[in-house]
Amino acid sequence: MAVQQQDGYDAVVVGGGAAGLSGAIALARSRRRVLVVDAGSPRNAPAAGVHNLIGREGTSPLALLEQGRADLVAYGGEVRRGRAVGARRTDDGFAVDLEDGSVVRGRRLLVTTGLEDELPDVPGVAERWGHQVLHCPFCHGWEVRDQRIGVLATGAMATHQAVLFSRLSDRVVLLAHDVPPPASDLPRLAAAGVAVVTGRVTALEGEPDRLAGVRLEDGTLLPLDAVVVAPRMVARSAVLDALGLEPVPHPTGTGQHYPADPTGRTGVAGVFLAGNVADLTAQVGTSAAAGTTAGAMVHAELIEEELAALLPAPVDQPVA
Ligand SMILES: Cc1cc2nc3c(=O)[nH]c(=O)nc-3n(C[C@H](O)[C@H](O)[C@H](O)COP(=O)(O)OP(=O)(O)OC[C@H]3O[C@@H](n4cnc5c(N)ncnc54)[C@H](O)[C@@H]3O)c2cc1C
Repeated sequence: MAVQQQDGYDAVVVGGGAAGLSGAIALARSRRRVLVVDAGSPRNAPAAGVHNLIGREGTSPLALLEQGRADLVAYGGEVRRGRAVGARRTDDGFAVDLEDGSVVRGRRLLVTTGLEDELPDVPGVAERWGHQVLHCPFCHGWEVRDQRIGVLATGAMATHQAVLFSRLSDRVVLLAHDVPPPASDLPRLAAAGVAVVTGRVTALEGEPDRLAGVRLEDGTLLPLDAVVVAPRMVARSAVLDALGLEPVPHPTGTGQHYPADPTGRTGVAGVFLAGNVADLTAQVGTSAAAGTTAGAMVHAELIEEELAALLPAPVDQPVA
């Protein structure tokens, strides 16, 4: 079938991380006119390398996406730096408003804007995020193996995180801080070799590139090499809100995301999601895979729409 030239894009992808670029590549390789609008702040930007990604272990997160943009452009896709601030339905798709006042139009929308990590409000945490302050044993646990690791308890995830990190080091402690573990967790922590340190943590201290430890409210400095936190993971999207989609709380209480089915379809026809905006636990590989699936689904929907326009309208068969 010939490639149709449209006024506007077949698909606008809002967000150019692993999910968005993968979705856009699937579309561009199907000869779809696709535009990625990206604000340029992927969630893992502070990290030195991406892990758990076959074939690209340790690649810098920004270098990975730079290559992804180059791959997309090589197939005829377009990338525009910018921030989408709203969207509305039009006769033939969607109009997306950008922060600079311009408007881009697409027959379908793929939203892959990720999530925000809301960090515990303890001095020293934000500056060290992604380096000496970690959250995910799969992303960077190997890099702190055998080191002195403190898990900062700010919610229900602390025991779970401490137990997972205990596989990577014999020197893991749980910093009871604001949320001491319930008595029912103590046998599991003990079995995993995790000691509980009582008292509030007032600050993380050390050089910018090397943690000395955590200061406790009684003035003690507890020496540590890394601190594990459980950020609240919050997907927010002015674009989705404007189109009538609402975020829902994650069942674990760890944040909020926008619902979508396994193909990325949402409750609003023509709007698809992929990556962390829909799945708080998705890593780079799973976000990319979800983006590819959603891109393929967008293409399949478009081609059915195009074929339907070429074929005569179905005629009701007389009842025999
Ligand atoms: C510190 C840290 C380290 C991590 N390390 C790993 C790891 O080693 N391995 C791993 O698999 N996972 C890792 N992760 C998880 C990984 O970051 C996510 O799985 C991944 O980034 C999700 O991809 P995404 O495309 O959904 O979102 P993102 O990568 O966050 O991309 C979203 C993009 O959308 C853009 N955007 C947002 N809003 C708008 C808007 N309104 N308009 C236009 N653009 C917008 C953002 O600027 C960003 O570029 C780590 C996470 C953190 C926090």
